[in-house]
Amino acid sequence: MKTKYLYMFILLFLGGCAVPTSSLSVTDEILDKEGYLFYQNEEVFLHASELKNKLILPAEEYLVPDYLNLLPNAKRGYRSGYHMGIDFSAPLNYPIRASYAGVIIRSNAYQQDVDIETYNSFLDMAAQVGKTPDDIYNFILLGRSVVIDHGYSITDKYRTITVYSHLSSIVDGLVPGSIVEQGEVIGFSGNTGTSSGALKNEKGAHLHWEIFFDDASGRYFLGQNIPSDLLKNNIELMFR
Ligand SMILES: [Zn+2]
Repeated sequence: MKTKYLYMFILLFLGGCAVPTSSLSVTDEILDKEGYLFYQNEEVFLHASELKNKLILPAEEYLVPDYLNLLPNAKRGYRSGYHMGIDFSAPLNYPIRASYAGVIIRSNAYQQDVDIETYNSFLDMAAQVGKTPDDIYNFILLGRSVVIDHGYSITDKYRTITVYSHLSSIVDGLVPGSIVEQGEVIGFSGNTGTSSGALKNEKGAHLHWEIFFDDASGRYFLGQNIPSDLLKNNIELMFR
């Protein structure tokens, strides 16, 4: 009997230890110890286990990228800011789908890219301010984009929105107030809002995807304060 308790104690002790993750495969066991999607403090955090089987990747055959520069927290020197989303590489005009059901709150299908001089002057201004002002970010750099409000349906802890940007086009008839189902195609990948878009070429198409979590204490982005070596793993757990 005593041996059994000792064994359990050892298991519990090991379970509480910090384990380097990069070498481990994704299992439910890791999910218990890691898997934080963002962490602000002991009261404000979200763990992937709270979102199991909720979100789907925003396009078929997409994978969470390996490269840290494509994940949240990556520095974005050209616009004096930090990446708050995931860049999924995509060929031009690849169908993009809603990661979860919700109500459209932004759909700017007729947005046109500014010319490259204007685009660069916005980036110069961001450099002068030392960060990317929200208006430059939302109205210029995201390009044609769709924002879906999921209310509290993804988690009852936070009001959640997802953002799909740099689209080449948005599905006809999708306007603020439209209701979309999970997996419904909302638009097609492109490069609007990027320097390539401003140059009117077809280079650099990708989907920049974001998810934000709101509560009375503020707004939090996926990956906020999560160490880079856990980031990809934890994000993958979110999409299970
Ligand atoms: Zn991006």
